[in-house]
Amino acid sequence: MVRGIGISPGIIFGKAKTMIKNQVNLEKKNIEDRNEEIDRLVHAIASSKQQINEIAIKTRATIGESEAKIFEAHELILEDATLIDGIKDKINEEMVNAEYAVSVVAKQFMDIFDSMDDAYMKEKSADIKDVSDRIIRNLLGIEAWHLADNEDKVIIVAEDLTPSDTALLDKNKVLGFVTAVGGKTSHTAILARILEIPAISGIQGIMEKLHDGDDLILDGQEGIVIVNPSPDDIHDYQEKKKVYDNQLLLYKKYLNKPSITKDGKEVEIFANIGLPDDTDKVIANGAEGIGLFRTEFLFMNRKNLPTEQEQYEAYKDVATRLKGKPVVIRTLDIGGDKEVDYLHLQAELNPFLGYRAIRLCLDRKEIFMTQLRALLRASAYGNIKIMFPMISSVHELREAKQMLQEAKKALENEGILYNDTIELGMMIEVPSAAMMSDLLAKEVDFFSIGTNDLIQYMVAVDRGNEKIAHLYHEFNPGVLRMIKMVIDNAHEANIWVGMCGEAAANPYMLPLLLAMGLDEFSVCPSAVLELRYIMSKLSVDDIKSKLDTILMMAEEHAIEKYMEEYYDKHIN
Ligand code: PEP
Ligand code: MG
Repeated sequence: MVRGIGISPGIIFGKAKTMIKNQVNLEKKNIEDRNEEIDRLVHAIASSKQQINEIAIKTRATIGESEAKIFEAHELILEDATLIDGIKDKINEEMVNAEYAVSVVAKQFMDIFDSMDDAYMKEKSADIKDVSDRIIRNLLGIEAWHLADNEDKVIIVAEDLTPSDTALLDKNKVLGFVTAVGGKTSHTAILARILEIPAISGIQGIMEKLHDGDDLILDGQEGIVIVNPSPDDIHDYQEKKKVYDNQLLLYKKYLNKPSITKDGKEVEIFANIGLPDDTDKVIANGAEGIGLFRTEFLFMNRKNLPTEQEQYEAYKDVATRLKGKPVVIRTLDIGGDKEVDYLHLQAELNPFLGYRAIRLCLDRKEIFMTQLRALLRASAYGNIKIMFPMISSVHELREAKQMLQEAKKALENEGILYNDTIELGMMIEVPSAAMMSDLLAKEVDFFSIGTNDLIQYMVAVDRGNEKIAHLYHEFNPGVLRMIKMVIDNAHEANIWVGMCGEAAANPYMLPLLLAMGLDEFSVCPSAVLELRYIMSKLSVDDIKSKLDTILMMAEEHAIEKYMEEYYDKHIN
């Protein structure tokens, strides 16, 4: 049995498929036979050409013509005489191995394109990287990162999956995944829950413990992997799965019911999405709205920025499908663990404390303005609310609001319709914002508490670092007190306050948040009905009478235990 961190629930049985990413350790080796080495290179280029051609054909059929063109451009790179001759010359003159020659010559070309102050040229550098990595993989006989090519459904085993890798996972091919890197509130984990793909992270030495073709049982709730299980293990987990499935059936009964406590307090249960397609899950799980649309995923897995028209269509699509129910759309939150290659952002020592979200938008105003215009245009077609991420000061908020005003004015001048009473909110996810939430509440229509970041900044624990995940604790008394303060300040200013961080979906946290008076919970779509069910069993008055005592408890584990017992007493 192998233990990790359960990041997305569900019990699955399947075969392991190990995935090695592009990064390979390239050693410089001296060769003896230059002709043999050039032959290897020529073969690798031919294989690369064939692979790229197949991908282009597949892409044209499944995605579209313009995306297929990207791969046609890659084919042209393989025919570029300056590049290929440069590699051959390096082998001939320096008697070095082909993979080393490819990496050095490709890097020289990339540096030239990178130094040009032109977005198109910078893209060319990324294309050369893609192509040269492929040639190197072919030289080394390493399988490329192509989930789409899998025939059977598999459980992916990898050192790491980035959020953009995860966004591409196809549920028809992937049963679940297991990785070494990542915590429960990393964006990879959040996406896995939205996609309903069972997953485990934090398995040290994963590649030694799990091998290609192993039979696995993955329990995403408990964070357990059983490798090559015995018949008894299989039987036990089949029974466990039955219990789990029955629980889901019980929750399904709450599909068309209101979100109301036993003593009649109504709250709203919304859902979080990453891409417009996730809206299907929001509707299927009976959420009362969307409390967080993480728009950055529209910007990933592509080669350039989405245009105003593309964004407008995506936002309009979601808003119209929600038929007048609220849709809180958050402006771009790139950075941290969410990377967008074509923006060529500099690597940072502390990306979560760095150039991300509203900071990037207020610096790259053209990107922000395009998004604000698209959001406003879409607001004419549904109940869209705009939300700014990572606000840390009043000044920053005012600057962003000023941009929104400018976008409104521009649309007015162009005679383009938008909802001029559109609600504007902000995330509370930076401690400074929480501490002065009384001041910020005067400036916006609503707050949404982003506990994923708020906790990491409060307890100084990187949310994606599995080694210190035990210190990242939503029941930390400091965190609980701060959440209460934000809710009180919002209500004092007569604005509503929700929570869209993962803590909102914690069943043991739910009574506390109800007692504090949280107005809206926004959780991954698959958690909506469970929350509604639990809520129906709770009395707000009862838990309210215990709130002061709980907030005086000094130890997060004691609070968590207290809440688990409270849950068991009232729910089971
Ligand atoms: C949060 O920080 O709680 C949040 C909802 O935003 P994200 O997880 O996208 O950083
Ligand atoms: Mg956040």
